[in-house]
Amino acid sequence: MFENSLNDPTNYKNWTEAQWREKLSPNEYAVLRQAGTEPPGVGEYTDTTTEGVYHCRACGAELFRSTEKFHSHCGWPSFYSPLAGDAVIERTDTSHGMIRTEVLCANCESHLGHVFEGEGYDTPTDLRYCINSISMTLEEKPIDGQ
Ligand SMILES: [Zn+2]
Repeated sequence: MFENSLNDPTNYKNWTEAQWREKLSPNEYAVLRQAGTEPPGVGEYTDTTTEGVYHCRACGAELFRSTEKFHSHCGWPSFYSPLAGDAVIERTDTSHGMIRTEVLCANCESHLGHVFEGEGYDTPTDLRYCINSISMTLEEKPIDGQ
């Protein structure tokens, strides 16, 4: 593993796992860096409707907005679209005997959750970004242009 940009603290992709362990709580680390999943219904943002922007809890990048959040009743915060197409990375995840699409922060490549499509939710995209509350921090603020 190359770690040639360690002196640049903003280049999160080159952070070592030791650095992440120091920055994150054990529960945050288990989800963000080890692709864990928090239990359904316990996350602090599951049913939150507060207006604002959700940031990556690992690096602070803007990921999702309250205006794309919807009630999926799945037990995790759900969004039908990320804040911007390049805010997240999506890649195939074949763990646990399933084929799913993993969602990662594009800025630091930390695990956020999964995205599912074609479930029939009444949203503009029919996508459900199922994101762990512990992967995000909500910044309460008005969303412009809505
Ligand atoms: Zn991040």
